[in-house]
Amino acid sequence: MQCPSGCPCSMEERKVERMFHRNSEPVVISDLVMYVCPECGQESMPLSSARIVENILNGKAKPSGKFVAELYEVSSVILN
Ligand SMILES: [Zn+2]
Repeated sequence: MQCPSGCPCSMEERKVERMFHRNSEPVVISDLVMYVCPECGQESMPLSSARIVENILNGKAKPSGKFVAELYEVSSVILN
């Protein structure tokens, strides 16, 4: 697959972790396959991944667990 920005190299397949929102609730999807351009960093979601995301956001998939994370809001970060 060619980069949509027109880079001469082809895009690499990478597994990433992404956060989406379902009814304003955060949902984390890991091992999501994305195409990434090694030249400019442009990302493109393959159709297969888009379908998976759609199914998850429509509540058609069972979660594998809960994702718990600390939140750091850049505007209110206080360094130790
Ligand atoms: Zn590119």
